[in-house]
Amino acid sequence: MGVGLLYHLAEEGCTDALLIEKGELTSGSTWHAAGQCPSLVGNYNLAKIHAYSNWLYPQLEALTGQYVSWHASGGIRIALKKEDVDWFHYLKGIADNVGFRMEIIGPDEIKKLNPFFDTTGVIAGAWTLDDGHADPAGLTNAMARGATNMGAKIVKHNRVTDIRLRPSGEWEVETEQGTVIAEKVVNAAGSFAREVQKMVGSDLPICNMEHQYIVTGPVQEFVDRDEEIPVMRDPYASSYIRQEQKSGLIGIYEHENLAEAWAPNGYPPWESDSELFPDDLERLMPWLGRAMERMPVIEQAGIKRVVNGAIPHSADGPPLLGPAAGLENFWLCCGSSFGIAQGAGCGKYLAQWMVHGDSEINMTGFDPRRFGAFADDDYMRAKGFQDYGMTYFTPLPGEELPAARECRTSPLYGKLKAKGCVFTQTFGWERPKWFSLDGREEEYSYRRNNVFEVVRDECLAVRERVGILDLSGFAKYDVSGADAEAFLNRLCANRMPTKDGGIVLAHILSDNGRIAGEVTITRLAGDRFYLLSAAGAELRDLDHLVQGRLDGEDVEIANVTDDRGVLVLAGPKSRDVLAKLTDEPLDNENFRWLTGKEIMVAGVPARALRVNYVGELGWELHPAMGDLETIYDAIIEAGEEHGIADFGLYAVNSLRIEKAYRGWGAELTNEVTMIDADMERFLKLDKDDFTGKAATLEQQKGERTLQLIYFEVDAVDSEVRGNEPIFIGDACVGLTTSGGYGYAVEKSLGFGYVGPEQSEPGTELTIGLLDHRRRATVLGEPAYDPANERLRA
Ligand SMILES: Cc1cc2nc3c(=O)[nH]c(=O)nc-3n(C[C@H](O)[C@H](O)[C@H](O)COP(=O)(O)OP(=O)(O)OC[C@H]3O[C@@H](n4cnc5c(N)ncnc54)[C@H](O)[C@@H]3O)c2cc1C
Repeated sequence: MGVGLLYHLAEEGCTDALLIEKGELTSGSTWHAAGQCPSLVGNYNLAKIHAYSNWLYPQLEALTGQYVSWHASGGIRIALKKEDVDWFHYLKGIADNVGFRMEIIGPDEIKKLNPFFDTTGVIAGAWTLDDGHADPAGLTNAMARGATNMGAKIVKHNRVTDIRLRPSGEWEVETEQGTVIAEKVVNAAGSFAREVQKMVGSDLPICNMEHQYIVTGPVQEFVDRDEEIPVMRDPYASSYIRQEQKSGLIGIYEHENLAEAWAPNGYPPWESDSELFPDDLERLMPWLGRAMERMPVIEQAGIKRVVNGAIPHSADGPPLLGPAAGLENFWLCCGSSFGIAQGAGCGKYLAQWMVHGDSEINMTGFDPRRFGAFADDDYMRAKGFQDYGMTYFTPLPGEELPAARECRTSPLYGKLKAKGCVFTQTFGWERPKWFSLDGREEEYSYRRNNVFEVVRDECLAVRERVGILDLSGFAKYDVSGADAEAFLNRLCANRMPTKDGGIVLAHILSDNGRIAGEVTITRLAGDRFYLLSAAGAELRDLDHLVQGRLDGEDVEIANVTDDRGVLVLAGPKSRDVLAKLTDEPLDNENFRWLTGKEIMVAGVPARALRVNYVGELGWELHPAMGDLETIYDAIIEAGEEHGIADFGLYAVNSLRIEKAYRGWGAELTNEVTMIDADMERFLKLDKDDFTGKAATLEQQKGERTLQLIYFEVDAVDSEVRGNEPIFIGDACVGLTTSGGYGYAVEKSLGFGYVGPEQSEPGTELTIGLLDHRRRATVLGEPAYDPANERLRA
């Protein structure tokens, strides 16, 4: 991972870069890895990372002059049930867009590619033709040679012993051989990353797992054949199975509490160098037996060698790539459990971010600030074990996983749970997803399932009556001080409200004009502002605020996320309900849409904002967290006569897509500008300088390349989820970003990016939805209430 970054930093022109290694290169986890580089990854941006590595590695030898043993074996992932095949169809869409070759094949074709594989119970395979495997040391040394050829430096046998921040903002990196002063530091210490992070006073959500593979003696059938079998990945055996020269190689991801972490307390000893752990084949049963069942020719060859080494594992699977929370110019490039497959790709996109301020792919899912203080030792361990054991499980949409739940809960958690609430986890918070009023459990599927009608009821309650939702996980900040207005105007593309009570939606841009954050800002009074952003952006936006403040500026920033709860009260009857609980006049004259005030509700103070993400008359109420239950109980009682209903985030997604509200992290990402995202009304280019203004003005002058579209699609039994290919004729012209079913308008809807020439309202497209291409039409306005009459009602 470190060498992959060094190579790409140098490629991006940053050659004044030094990699410090305590032993030999690869002497951590890399040297003993099995070296497989799969293309098939369920995450679009991670698939881009893998695809880039698979593109680079076969050329590395020619590029660097260093030998690389690339085996272009291809790979086959096995499907045992229909959900696996649905997933393959979804991945095929990703493959078409990312540009790696993939075919969904049947058992007979699998047999042709690997005649030794027993296909009992197999219904299909995902054959990825650009996969390969390579000796990890060869890859690392080739990238190291490439990096040093370009001018970067590597120092080996030199441990970093401490890292300190200088008053100048530079980092002082103390090593066994002396001190290095650096403008930027990257922690790429693999299994030692937590130990290194301690040097700068923080921690990382990484759990180092033990992982084993076995190598057999020569297999006669392999000896007798010229071609190499594809790397087989089989959920039945929780294994990868491949040829290692003429021998067999089987690696197992054990689960059911049989996995082990290293070191038990998370901190490996510094002296660990090129270390392997004792074999523990017991842990691999029964999966090893199943792998042998699949490939009996391997069983006969006998086990010759067992490799048991450490894999650094992030808490949710993808690596940690990006800035460390709360530290300026301190970056992370670690937590990769597939560091061979990801080394080059992670290096490329992280180097772009570090050198140019943005990466060309969406980095939201890799940003280390997706974890906060809630990710403690227990959390990391539980999530790390869960993720490791599920390596060959098919991810199912909406599936709730059991590990490390209830880290952050609002005071309503128990009450809502007793009412049938099913929760989903965002940034540690348990947030209502839907309400099971009849005790049903969701049957997870890529298709419409048994909660489709339940969500309809929740949505229609909001559209026709009144609904209530606990959204306490919102990130919240109080920003105040004599310079607060000027500061926020400099940080954000929109203009701050000039009147007390005004609310604006504002975007934080990078210097390149790309979207870094989205905040709702209320001017409470004078120089006191209240900022809200997505739950998952709590630390990112805190960094934007704190690091955006200039020396000497009179601005106080307080993260008040845990101090305030949030209730969304929305629907045509919301005014009637709230009026029963407050003396504050709620009519349009006294409480306009897009204004907020501090009022009393049910006898307790709350910040009331007339704004919401569901597109109805309504208020968000932000009382002290301790008063949340008082207000909730009073609202439920007052709302009874109006048929009030609890609703969850499934309903929110449907309601917001009907209103064409964009989502941060989906439509609004570091890949796009406000112009691309069709958000120009939130740009105030006539105000004084703000971050990203110059780049935005520059883009205005140039040719457009990308355009957000909003469309309806003739979906039959599954909605757009994001990352599906968009076609005109046979040409793939774009990518969806998110979607959902709109129950009030009875349409399946979505967003995506295409070229400007394909974005005109009325343009006919097709979208790859699982195993079908569905017709879609670009819409020119929100499907529901385009004039915002409901919001202003
Ligand atoms: C048995 C096994 C099989 C695997 N198979 C595959 C596979 O097929 N494909 C795949 O993609 N992945 C595989 N992996 C996972 C892969 O090995 C890891 O994801 C990858 O090696 C992580 O790379 P890294 O650069 O982050 O860590 P490392 O390779 O550990 O590199 C970190 C480096 O930092 C150095 N370091 C740490 N602290 C300091 C310090 N204070 N000062 C200086 N230097 C320091 C260490 O010495 C080390 O060399 C496998 C893992 C195992 C255990």
